[in-house]
Amino acid sequence: MAIADQVDGFLRRLSFRWLPGHCVLCASASGRARDLCAACEQDLPFNTRCCARCALPLAAAEALCAHCLQSPPAFVSAVTAFRYEWPLAGLITRFKFGGDLACGRVLSGLLAERVMAALADRRIARPDLLLPVPLHHHRLRERGFNQALEIARLLGQRCALPICQEVLQRHQITAAQSGLDAKARRRNVRGAFTATGRIDGLQIALIDDVVTTAATVTECARVLKQAGAAAVQVWALARAPLPR
Ligand SMILES: [Zn+2]
Ligand SMILES: [Zn+2]
Repeated sequence: MAIADQVDGFLRRLSFRWLPGHCVLCASASGRARDLCAACEQDLPFNTRCCARCALPLAAAEALCAHCLQSPPAFVSAVTAFRYEWPLAGLITRFKFGGDLACGRVLSGLLAERVMAALADRRIARPDLLLPVPLHHHRLRERGFNQALEIARLLGQRCALPICQEVLQRHQITAAQSGLDAKARRRNVRGAFTATGRIDGLQIALIDDVVTTAATVTECARVLKQAGAAAVQVWALARAPLPR
């Protein structure tokens, strides 16, 4: 771990001792080194029962969803902390569109706990690189930051893994995915990404904020495998349930 990270961690612990965290949901003092109180954390929709491959929330305790049984996606596994539901969806909106980085840190920290547990149990392979899903540079200019990179930074610190921002590029500005059905989403992202280098034999963890129909991460995984990746897994804050 870099000295800067150690100093940063030390200062953060010190500041929490004097000035406890503030809950991003109920705004009360959290009383611990996290900007989320224990009661609000319990109310979050953790994605505990889900497809082992794509993390789709499931009603029954099945290993795989119907879609993964029929045609497995280009990624080998997905770890997500939450189902994309209220109040979690509100926190992600504040992080992504309101630039509330405290929300991003809280959620990324909870994802890091999930990821580290999965690595410790050997449910997932330890990747060589973390690769945040890139934003098109127009979107990046509008928003000022790439939410996937912010998540990757925290995961990289906690799991001691390097981040790669060079290989995958988004060269097409895609229409907003919200409001599109699964088929339209796949068409929307087809050809939006290219790989600019080789990553032969490397294990990649693709990082994103929300996996909705998995169209974006599936397309990224396809491109990364063409660029030589041995396997691609997905780590994301949340996975959307199927629309009712
Ligand atoms: Zn709270
Ligand atoms: Zn699945």
